[in-house]
Amino acid sequence: MKRGNQGRILLLLLIALAVGAFFVLDLGAWLTLANLKARQADLAAFVAANPLAAVAGFFGLYVAVTALSLPGAAIMTLAAGAIFGLWEGTLIVSFASTIGASLAFLSSRYLLRDWVKARFGGRVEAIDRGIARDGAFYLLTLRLIPAFPFFLINLAMGLTAMRLVTFALVSQVGMLPGTIVYVNAGTRLAAVGSTSDILSPALIGSFVLLGLFPLLAKALVGGWKRRRVYRGWRRPRRFDRNLIVIGAGAGGLVTALIGATVRAKVTLIEKGEMGGDCLNTGCVPSKALIRSARAAHEIRTAGAYGIAPAEPEVRFSELIERIHRIIAEIAPADSVERYTGLGVDVRKGHARLVDPWTVEIDGGERLTARAIVIAAGGEPAVPPIPGLAESGYLTSDTMWERLRGRETKPERITIVGGGPIGTELAQAFARLGIRTTQIEHGPRLLPKEDEEVSALVEAVLREEGVEVLTGHDAVRVEGKALIVRSAGEESAIPFDEIIVAVGRKARLTGYGLEELGIETGRTVAVNDRLETRYPNIYAVGDVAGPYQFTHFAAHQAWFAAVNGLFGQLKRFRADYRVLPWVTFTDPEVAHVGHNEISAREAGIEHEVVRYDLSHLDRALAEGANRGFVKLLVEPGKDRLLGATIVAANAGELIAEPVLAMKHGLGLNKLLATIHAYPTLAEANKYAAGEWKKAHKPERLLAWLERYHRWRRG
Ligand SMILES: Cc1cc2nc3c(=O)[nH]c(=O)nc-3n(C[C@H](O)[C@H](O)[C@H](O)COP(=O)(O)OP(=O)(O)OC[C@H]3O[C@@H](n4cnc5c(N)ncnc54)[C@H](O)[C@@H]3O)c2cc1C
Repeated sequence: MKRGNQGRILLLLLIALAVGAFFVLDLGAWLTLANLKARQADLAAFVAANPLAAVAGFFGLYVAVTALSLPGAAIMTLAAGAIFGLWEGTLIVSFASTIGASLAFLSSRYLLRDWVKARFGGRVEAIDRGIARDGAFYLLTLRLIPAFPFFLINLAMGLTAMRLVTFALVSQVGMLPGTIVYVNAGTRLAAVGSTSDILSPALIGSFVLLGLFPLLAKALVGGWKRRRVYRGWRRPRRFDRNLIVIGAGAGGLVTALIGATVRAKVTLIEKGEMGGDCLNTGCVPSKALIRSARAAHEIRTAGAYGIAPAEPEVRFSELIERIHRIIAEIAPADSVERYTGLGVDVRKGHARLVDPWTVEIDGGERLTARAIVIAAGGEPAVPPIPGLAESGYLTSDTMWERLRGRETKPERITIVGGGPIGTELAQAFARLGIRTTQIEHGPRLLPKEDEEVSALVEAVLREEGVEVLTGHDAVRVEGKALIVRSAGEESAIPFDEIIVAVGRKARLTGYGLEELGIETGRTVAVNDRLETRYPNIYAVGDVAGPYQFTHFAAHQAWFAAVNGLFGQLKRFRADYRVLPWVTFTDPEVAHVGHNEISAREAGIEHEVVRYDLSHLDRALAEGANRGFVKLLVEPGKDRLLGATIVAANAGELIAEPVLAMKHGLGLNKLLATIHAYPTLAEANKYAAGEWKKAHKPERLLAWLERYHRWRRG
């Protein structure tokens, strides 16, 4: 047995013993009003004869009763008044109750916090965030209203991440008014018929008002803090617009669309191409490239399907033109014309924040709005590798235009970076018959996925001819060769083109963030309402993070638009617990919620259920039976904590677990849903079936077996 568990069991036994003794020996009978009244004179005489021992004994007893959450604290508080008087009694009870409450708080934390965290991880994290933000206020309110059971507050707070000092200090202050009332009643014990007499409806009403005071104070302090950041800025008396959006990528377009839909006056400013990164240099061109690469791969591997295979003749310039054609086909959906038609005032130019309400376009026209949303996106990070700048390196921002100039495909491509972008590109270029090397300084590709996912993808890439060099550092570029180092050894990787794909960084300079003192780290600092330090300036998408996906930017956009336009009525907190993402390799890797790594890191207890595609009829028919569905399930329940799918079309298959997680549909419901045969989506159902098999009711089945045996006679 682990040491921590031994300690817990010992403490639990001690508490159980003490509480058991209290009830078995009927010690509660001593802590009654009648008994107190009957013994008041004896107690007073004892205190007069032994003042120090009386205080110490009473103090110790009070701490024990409250620490063990035993009934009787109210009577003891009255007793303090009756035998020590108002001020001494209040002093004793105030400290004894705080120490007792803190011990109960610590016991609850020690015994149960880890278990609660493991069991309800996601929800506990959210509660802890709330406690870190406002816990002291809520505790003060609970303490000020004596109607909330004292022991329950101690135990419940112990389960949160509240600091002990905060708990003790706030408790002592919050309990003081109630303590004084009870101790004072104790000084007039004869007049008290029952403990319920002490709190008249009027007094309870006063306590409730007092209890609401911290929340009111919090709202006032919050309002004051929100206003304080604007000191030194002159707020326009009226605004030209309701909303100004900087950047017309996924985040900015969706923000503007929502604003215009609810009939706000919205201006959207874009300095480059409408559609931003995703349309022009990101998702769209990369997925178009991947499609061409798959066509080449299918020709090359057609032998597996009974068709003569061939080495595909790649018409590189046509292939790149197709990519640009697809961008052009999608572009009207993100165009100035479309958005103007939807009621958005679209401006082309460089936007700069001048003050918290004013944006300047190209150093000229100034527009004002009550709310501003920054959706300025990001750009490829380029590491300081000596010789790289002179090498004519490509990034996802530049490669689509630069490759457009080539008649024939490059012979060799080297990709620096083992994340999703680098891995998608590496497989695609290799499938097009280009000698591709992928360099990753970490031990594996796709480091955010579980180890087995990386292993499978790496194996596929290697089989398809990618030279995957994990654990290699890019040291310098010499002419047309990248020098890499691994285990102290250097080697040269020749290339025609070198692509840097080591991650993307948020755009943080050159448009007024510095001048306004808007905090930035790796991204613009925002709270969970997406507000920057100025509550009327929001940030969404790659510039805000923490994730960098088109659908994530669009999700945040809803919160920024709604908070920006209706925040005076209600402000919403963004929630990213059910966020899917997909790496479009073949097989695709799709992910939602926790995987094994993240669940382990967060200390969340989970069961893993795995269904291998090698058994799935449709996957076999497609020749796409490499992969799996892996579900993380809450122990003792059928609730999904996360899913990882590695499969052809995993990006489509993940939609079902996403829906289940978002709307709390358990695996039993998934299992009870008819899935068309033969489809890849059946894999989700079969994975749920694996979970069911692992939890079959063995006892009941044994009884059923007996029943059938009996029926057979
Ligand atoms: C190769 C690649 C593949 C990707 N594949 C996927 C994928 O498959 N799925 C997925 O979900 N995500 C993918 N992404 C990520 C996705 O493209 C981004 O997460 C998404 O585009 C972010 O949108 P955004 O609105 O935050 O920023 P952006 O799309 O970058 O838009 C920001 C816009 O703001 C403009 N701007 C910046 N500053 C100013 C200023 N001062 N004034 C005016 N305009 C300004 C910029 O010109 C830009 O147009 C991929 C990215 C890359 C690079």
